[in-house]
Amino acid sequence: MRTLHVLAASLLPPLCAACGRSCRPTAVICTRCTRRLAQAEPLRGGGPPGLDQAWSSAPHEGAARDLVTALKFRRLLPVAGLIAERIEWLAPASLLSGAIVPVPTARLRSLGRGFDPAAEIAAALAERTGLPLAPCLVRRGGGRQVGKRRGERIGHPPDVQPRGEVPRSVLLVDDVLTTGATLSACARALRSAGAVRVAAATFTRRL
Ligand SMILES: [Zn+2]
Repeated sequence: MRTLHVLAASLLPPLCAACGRSCRPTAVICTRCTRRLAQAEPLRGGGPPGLDQAWSSAPHEGAARDLVTALKFRRLLPVAGLIAERIEWLAPASLLSGAIVPVPTARLRSLGRGFDPAAEIAAALAERTGLPLAPCLVRRGGGRQVGKRRGERIGHPPDVQPRGEVPRSVLLVDDVLTTGATLSACARALRSAGAVRVAAATFTRRL
């Protein structure tokens, strides 16, 4: 069966993960989307409370938003590699230090989906940068963020707890920065367990 799958994949024309149009066989996204993504400006400063530094590689719009959707709902793993590549390429050197900690997904959501976008991006970024990967946070409760109104999300910060040993210097990694409530909850949990520097890098940021 596996051979058949591989064969079928090689016969299908490769499609861009962002826009769905055909693209070069080895590419994750087409040249048009590569150009759109290259024009997106990284965002920094004004991070959520509790963070020393927060940086996002692009606003949550256009090709960048399409890639988040592809990763989250279509589980396109090569997209995680592409996202990690962009973060490594554009992030200031001061940001890319310490241990990489993925922002934890609520357990029920993660199980239901069988796929955790933040964990995949964090793993790919750790591999690219050589920084240690430390999945030392867990999230209690299965509250879904998707579909909730922004006000509700701000009103109910997620319950994040440290697990095992927490590094002193942390770079939190997530796909999207929305209200920052989750990042702040992560920073609180990390600092309560001994972290002295907590920064965050996300692929996109909602404005
Ligand atoms: Zn495209």
